[in-house]
Order: sequence, then structure tokens, then C-alpha cells
Amino acid sequence: MPATILDGAKIANDIRGEVAAEVKAMAAAGLRPGLAAVLVGSNPASEIYVRGKVKACEELGIYSEQHTPPESATTEDLLAVVDDLNGRDDIDGILVQLPLPPQVDAKKVLMAVDPAKDVDGFHPVNVGFLSTQRRGLVPCTPAGVIEILKRSNIPTAGQEAVVVGRSDIVGKPAAMLLLNSNATVTVGHSKTRDLPGTCRRADILVAAIGRAGMITRDFVKPGATVIDVGINKVTDPAEFKRLFAGNARREQIFRSKGATLVGDVHPSVAEVAGAITPVPGGVGPLTIAMLMFNTVKAAKMRRGSGVVELSRI
Ligand code: NDP
Repeated sequence: MPATILDGAKIANDIRGEVAAEVKAMAAAGLRPGLAAVLVGSNPASEIYVRGKVKACEELGIYSEQHTPPESATTEDLLAVVDDLNGRDDIDGILVQLPLPPQVDAKKVLMAVDPAKDVDGFHPVNVGFLSTQRRGLVPCTPAGVIEILKRSNIPTAGQEAVVVGRSDIVGKPAAMLLLNSNATVTVGHSKTRDLPGTCRRADILVAAIGRAGMITRDFVKPGATVIDVGINKVTDPAEFKRLFAGNARREQIFRSKGATLVGDVHPSVAEVAGAITPVPGGVGPLTIAMLMFNTVKAAKMRRGSGVVELSRI
């Protein structure tokens, strides 16, 4: 039986609706959450991401503003921008779009963001809160992974979860969230011995690697849930053929655009998995939805109005 497709776009839309309702309720109390995005230089991909985030704010009634220091900005310039935003009461969330230019000490800039406004959840204070199960701001993409599981009624407690990838942004926080949800968690990476065998133990397999279609069907236990975080652009025709041979819709896209997107999971895994997220339309849409959620959560936490749980907003 082919896998159930986990519709991330729909789940993201539901979350956006809940966040918009919460923003409306806050407006009735005279409050408006605010997000500031800091976009340095002119990286086309970063510009697209930030545009998407600003647009989402507009749609949900969240105030947003963009700061666009030049490519030549120094660490000190960015620290001054962050310091100013930290001090403003109308700004609840600060997002420093990565990557930063090479002359900038990115860690120093991210460390300068007030943890209470750190809507990306990258600050060590928030990392510590996550690992000690305290209330804090959780990185958006891993939080989205958990929302997909929760809202698709896929149990985590007592399940074997394998996360492939150990980045600070995706793999590690995803593993921590699964552990906090009572899964038994293994983290695989480039030095893991017998990665296919390790992955085959998983009831829930999360791929956050950055390698097109690396997780093939021999990595997957029949019936497992597979969450594909990867977003990879394929332009090589031979690689395209390895991934999508016989898929008429993809072939048409590839012919007309010369490229297509694929996750870290090979499309044929859908024939063995029990449930799987597509790429595009799986984890991707959740990232911005969870950023919006974090902005509202930060606004409420800063104003001392208690924990915001997604089920409540
Ligand atoms: P990183 O490059 O920071 O981390 C990749 C991880 O994968 C590393 O831990 C690395 O291991 C591991 N890895 C690489 N090659 C192999 C291999 N051959 N076998 C086993 N493990 C391997 O990537 P990110 O975590 O930032 O992103 C991962 C993917 O998720 C990317 O495709 C990215 O585009 C996507 N992404 C998607 C988002 C979304 O919104 N959907 C948001 C963020 C990222 P090691 O540590 O040993 O080097």
C-alpha cells in the first residue's frame, strides 16, 4: 500500500489560522506582535526567504519591518542594529537571516539577540531551555516536524526515532524535541557506522542531511513514518533520472525549468513507508508558520501572559 502523504501545506495553513486568531484577540487588548528581520547584503535566496516571512506577517496581522545593512557591514554595525531592536518594546521577535557575510562574526551577532526575542530559537539560552524542558523559543523547522507528527496523530511515546543530521538548526533540536516527546532517539551523521541498518530500526525517520534522495528504500522499515526535511535543487539530468525516472509530472517540470526540488529521501521510499512528507509541500511550509507562532509566543511571554501552547492558540 502506498504511504499516506502528510500534507504540510495544509497543516501550516491550520497553524497560520490559529496564529491569526490569536493576533486578533491580542489586537482587541491593544497589543500587536512585531517581528524585525535583519537581511545583510543581497543574497537572492535570503531575500526570497525574508520576503516570504514579511508576507506571512502581513497576512496574519503581525507588524514587521526589515533592516538591510550593506554587504560590507561589520560585526559592530550588526551588533548596533540588534542592540537597538533588543531595546524596542514594539519588537517581539528578531530574526537575523543567515548566512552573514564572511567578515561578520555570526556567532557573536546571534548571541547578542535578546533570548526573549530569539524567534529562531538559536540562542544558547533557548537551546538550554529546550534540553531541560523549560519554556522557551524552539527552532522553527524542528518544531514544524513535531507539529506534523502531532497533527497527523502519529504517536511518538515509546517509538524508535532516528534523526539523520546533527546540525544545531535542524538535526539536534529535532532529536531533542522527539526525546522530550518520549521517543527513543538515535542521531545519525556522516560518521555513523551502518547508517541504513540504523535507519531501518526507526518507527519515525527524520532526514535532515542536505543530500538529494540519499535515503533510499533499503533505509526504511516497512510502515515507518518518514519526515523529509531536506530541500535540494536537482539540475543534473542523470541525477534527475535516478530520482524521478517514469514520473511524467516531474519530467515535464524538469524539461521546462531545467531543475526540480527533491528532499533527502528518494521518492521510491513512498512505496515502503507508512506515511511520508512530500518535497515540496511537506516540512517547508511549516517553517514560516512556526516562525509566526514563535513571534506571538515571544510577545505573550514578554508580556507575562503565560505559556502559549499550539493547541491553545
Ligand atoms: P547541515 O549541512 O548543517 O547538516 C547536515 C547534516 O547531515 C550533518 O550533521 C552531516 O553530518 C549530515 N550528513 C551529511 N552527509 C551525510 C551522509 N552522507 N551520511 C550521513 N549524514 C550526513 O544541514 P542543515 O541541518 O542546515 O539542513 C539539512 C537539510 O535540511 C538541507 O537540505 C536544508 O536545505 C534543509 N532545510 C530545510 C528547511 C525547511 O524549511 N524545510 C530549513 C532548514 C534546512 P556531519 O555532522 O557528520 O557532517
